[in-house]
Amino acid sequence: MKLAGWGRYPVIEANISAPRSVDDIIRQITKGTSIARGNGRSYGDSSVSSSNTLHMKHFNRMLAFNETSGQLVAEAGLLLADIIDVFLPEGWFPSVTPGTKFVTIGGMIAADVHGKNHHKDQSFGQYIDWIDIIKTEGKIERCSKTKNPELFHRTIGGMGLTGIIIRAAIRLKRVPSAWIKQRTLTAENIEQTIDLFEQSLDSTYSVAWIDCLQKGKKLGRSLIMLGEHAQLEDLPDTLAKSPYASPVKQNITIPFFLPACLLNGLTVKTFNKFYYWNSKRKDQYQLVDWDRYFYPLDAILGWNKIYGRRGFVQFQCVIPLDKAKDGLSELLQTISVANVGSFLSVLKRFGEQESLFSFPMKGYTLALDFPVNPKTLNLMQQLDLITLKHAGRFYLAKDSRMSRDTFLSSDPRAKTYKSFRVDGGLNYSFSSAQSERLGL
Ligand SMILES: Cc1cc2nc3c(=O)[nH]c(=O)nc-3n(C[C@H](O)[C@H](O)[C@H](O)COP(=O)(O)OP(=O)(O)OC[C@H]3O[C@@H](n4cnc5c(N)ncnc54)[C@H](O)[C@@H]3O)c2cc1C
Repeated sequence: MKLAGWGRYPVIEANISAPRSVDDIIRQITKGTSIARGNGRSYGDSSVSSSNTLHMKHFNRMLAFNETSGQLVAEAGLLLADIIDVFLPEGWFPSVTPGTKFVTIGGMIAADVHGKNHHKDQSFGQYIDWIDIIKTEGKIERCSKTKNPELFHRTIGGMGLTGIIIRAAIRLKRVPSAWIKQRTLTAENIEQTIDLFEQSLDSTYSVAWIDCLQKGKKLGRSLIMLGEHAQLEDLPDTLAKSPYASPVKQNITIPFFLPACLLNGLTVKTFNKFYYWNSKRKDQYQLVDWDRYFYPLDAILGWNKIYGRRGFVQFQCVIPLDKAKDGLSELLQTISVANVGSFLSVLKRFGEQESLFSFPMKGYTLALDFPVNPKTLNLMQQLDLITLKHAGRFYLAKDSRMSRDTFLSSDPRAKTYKSFRVDGGLNYSFSSAQSERLGL
């Protein structure tokens, strides 16, 4: 069948199976190379294998919970949304969450996802106690910081290329309510945006939305949203009575692909202007429910269809801290000149992180969506070069089109990761369309 990631590009003719038991998985992986697929929320081709894509949807049980430490043991195909449904009413929340709750534990480990609190709390990998994984020989192996540590550290952020994760023990954190105290700051340009981030490092959560079609003195103007978990005393009486209750909401569904011509420089500019002024008026403090704060896009089901049938691509890089102002200015300048702005341009501050293959490093990460067409693909190649020039690297969970040369020049760790796979014979058992494209 035809299979793609969340960006619906590239579309690949792939064999797909949905094993129901460990024995089933072992049978599948001995047939040839395969890759695990969680909920297909990575943008490109990292969870697609033309040879054998193993959909983990049947591995979705919660197995144990420790009420003292917050440790949850669960199968790899369990959705984050289900974890929140069960545990938020009891006062627990994911220690790190990406911008969608429709991801699985396996997908979050494999991409070592980051959230709006990376500058303080690092990535999801910091909150994993152990992982059970099936490697080449079909044996389940447990790995942790102390047991099989190399396998553990290479599986976190390893994009599914070390084996099939079956289950894991992850740690949730206690939160005082289901509400976030949000403070919105406005910045007139990219310099000010970065200065405000640097002054806000104490905030638990921070993220900026960039109006990416501005030029000159307004280049990189933005809204910066800071967030803290609201304490009981922050809530009005009506909410304080049941602080973990979530408001009932109506989701919107995009029923069909919208015509690609709706997305052009003018519509993007108009949307960005409206969003900036509308949010600027709301400025200062607001109480926002957890779903709206962490997962605004999840309220529009199937929003990936707004980019039309040809799909869309995301560009996400990280630029090291000392080069961030120059690097981000050059990226935004190039996008602005090309006049193909993105509806979604998001900037986050990463803190320190030592990892064998995960994406984050101390600095700034910029993420932008573009509809697929020759002009945007060409623009993204220019953005690649600017990122390389500033010693940055790229997020594989968002990539669908990078060249092998670009990838290898951006990440010297790729060489040792590949050697690890070759030495363990993992390359004969696990590969994705992405790993083949990037030479992993
Ligand atoms: C709206 C939106 C917002 C996002 N925001 C963020 C964000 O803020 N931060 C961030 O870090 N990411 C973000 N992402 C990316 C997303 O978190 C990752 O792509 C995540 O990996 C998707 O999880 P999934 O379960 O859908 O995995 P898939 O997309 O199905 O797979 C992703 C990778 O995980 C591997 N994998 C999945 N299951 C297993 C398993 N059982 N065993 C071994 N490997 C496995 C796959 O092989 C693949 O390499 C966002 C994505 C969307 C759509």
